[in-house]
Amino acid sequence: RRKKIVQECEKLMDKPDQIRNIAIAAHVDHGKTTLSDNLLAGAGMISDETAGQQLAMDTKDDEQERGITIDAANVSMTHEYEDRNHLINLIDTPGHVDFGGDVTRAMRAVDGALVVVDAVEGAMPQTETVLRQALREGVKPALFINKVDRLISELQEGPQEMQERLLKVIRNVNELIRGMTEDMDDVDDWTVSVEEGTVGFGSALYKWGVSMPSMQATGLDFGDIIDMERNDQRQELHEKTPLSDVVLDMVCEHFPDPLDAQPRRIPRIWRGDDTLDVAEQMRLVDDDGEVVLMVTDIGIDPHAGEVASGRVFSGGLEKGQELYVSGTAGKNRVQSVGIYMGGEREEVERVPAGNIAAVTGLRDAIAGSTVSSIEMTPFESIEHISEPVITKSVEAKNMDDLPKLIETLRRVSKEDPTIQITINEDTGEHLISGQGELHLEVQTQRIESEQGIPVITGEPIVVFREQPTGACETVEGISPNRHNRFYITIEPLSDELVETIQLGEASMDMPELERREALQEAGMDKDTSQNVEHIYGTNILIDDTKGIQHLNETMELVIEGLEEALDDGPLAAEPVQGSLIRLHDARLHEDAIHRGPAQVIPAVRNAVHRGLIAARVKLLEPIQNVRIDVPNEHMGAASGEIQGRRGRVDDMYQEGDLMVVEGIAPVDEMIGFSSDIRSATEGRASWNTENAGFQVMANSLQEETMKEIRERKGMKLELPEGVDYF
Ligand code: GDP
Repeated sequence: RRKKIVQECEKLMDKPDQIRNIAIAAHVDHGKTTLSDNLLAGAGMISDETAGQQLAMDTKDDEQERGITIDAANVSMTHEYEDRNHLINLIDTPGHVDFGGDVTRAMRAVDGALVVVDAVEGAMPQTETVLRQALREGVKPALFINKVDRLISELQEGPQEMQERLLKVIRNVNELIRGMTEDMDDVDDWTVSVEEGTVGFGSALYKWGVSMPSMQATGLDFGDIIDMERNDQRQELHEKTPLSDVVLDMVCEHFPDPLDAQPRRIPRIWRGDDTLDVAEQMRLVDDDGEVVLMVTDIGIDPHAGEVASGRVFSGGLEKGQELYVSGTAGKNRVQSVGIYMGGEREEVERVPAGNIAAVTGLRDAIAGSTVSSIEMTPFESIEHISEPVITKSVEAKNMDDLPKLIETLRRVSKEDPTIQITINEDTGEHLISGQGELHLEVQTQRIESEQGIPVITGEPIVVFREQPTGACETVEGISPNRHNRFYITIEPLSDELVETIQLGEASMDMPELERREALQEAGMDKDTSQNVEHIYGTNILIDDTKGIQHLNETMELVIEGLEEALDDGPLAAEPVQGSLIRLHDARLHEDAIHRGPAQVIPAVRNAVHRGLIAARVKLLEPIQNVRIDVPNEHMGAASGEIQGRRGRVDDMYQEGDLMVVEGIAPVDEMIGFSSDIRSATEGRASWNTENAGFQVMANSLQEETMKEIRERKGMKLELPEGVDYF
């Protein structure tokens, strides 16, 4: 049976109009995994009985134990619709917000996103996040409202109430979609509607589902469904209107095929020159064009080693090809190509444009790489809505394991680029940084259980930021030999400009004209935008000088000095963000020997640090949105857990039989939250966090925190000169 399906898939791979690349995205626990299993069972990939128990998409052991999906896994299946067979490539997206980076990557590979929403809970914060990620990538949404059985059996709702509730969910989701697509001129109306068939509802647990077309075809109405649910005729209901058919029909009918999607999506997700042949080939899904693969995920196969998976936008991938990998110098040789069948890889001869491929041999590729047969502008670096906010050290218990640990850490960061691995140069310790305490815990546990490397981890440490809060007068930086001087001012960058840089809409990789336009659109004046010399993190260097001799040939060192200054800010050697640095003037020694690295770098570094202090640089800390669902009697304890952590409760309301407490708290204070909330509520609370950026710390905490960080880093405790405004 399986072999037959693989053969069918191979035939369909060459027919892009019969291909749908889709993702299922949802708030945690809304039923994405159960729904995915239904689809696999419907397509004959796993048995019907085990759907819902097998959790085929959760291929990693720890995911099954924890019941959360962590890595994006892929699966291909076929589905008959209107007398034509279709190849459906499904990418799983992680539900937990701490692992948000994976979601964006998965979205880049697909053209349609089925958003699953729990009928009882309605749209939740993560529903909004995944929807935003999908729409930003030009991915078309459809809606499945799940757990409708609960409305019937638990909440005892009748047809009228049920209909009202479903309409409310649809209205909410449409409001979100409308708000997010307002400024997108490349899409038509992408709101979902029952009449058009872009909304389905049902029960992934009991394997039935309905949509307008299926209700018309079967003659079932709400009343019939309620009767059958109540009378324990779920099996009958499943047979009459199987969930997988309803959903897969919807996918085939309403999601764009690659031929339809790529002409629209390529200009949105790729910023290279649109007059090049390769641009046209990608827009047209040209099977004979240059090979272009966008890698969305790196997985490990116990036998084959690292497997890169991603979307083939043009050309065809074949064994033996020598391909460029963005961001690296050499080429890699493709060892095998394949597709995914229920989490297992099946090798095939060739994977043409428009498909999701599994490739081995790309040893330099990481999640996010562009792999191609010609050198080309890579797909913009995939924006990560959340940057790493927490770090801890990892050490092997047995020294013998050290090489294996280093290898494993390297791999972990390749699989999940929201994880960063650094080495503390003073102590030689390895540091792992990620999205939250749980994110790091999952990764370190994986190292222990999968690799069998016992590790010792340090206390988690929060990553801070430094940012100017005002503009400064001109400051001077002088080189040690006093022959070179730099004159600069610094001011904060507007939020809009910061966001434009974060989204990759303005970067140094893009053609200058395009960058200027993007910066002007975000509010930068024309002259300034023409003088942009460098962008680093969310900081911009403007060169306002005119005709200074030797400055051009010295600029590389200026940039080096700038980057050093911004990596280790003046307050506590934390990264600097959101600053606009203007170079107004410079004096340079005539003789190149006297303006080498040892002179220019410290001069610029000092100028930048002085400028930052004069621009009232302050310490920022990462914060998280927190949501706790808890029975009424524990509500006080739950909100106390937020308030007791320098947090703020913003909202409390009833939802179903539970109370919801929403608020924000600093990441630093959230360390240990997991066990504290458990004991405070006798284990009755479920909770979620989502990174919400950085926030200036209260003035009363600035000095104390700064000193703590300086002490931890072994820096001298006195604050730098000029930091006296506390
Ligand atoms: P995910 O986190 O979105 O992947 O959610 P899961 O598929 O793991 O489902 C979360 C929980 O909800 C599990 O206990 C499921 O059995 C349950 N569940 C999923 N779908 C339904 C449904 O349609 N009805 C009911 N009553 N429970 C469901």
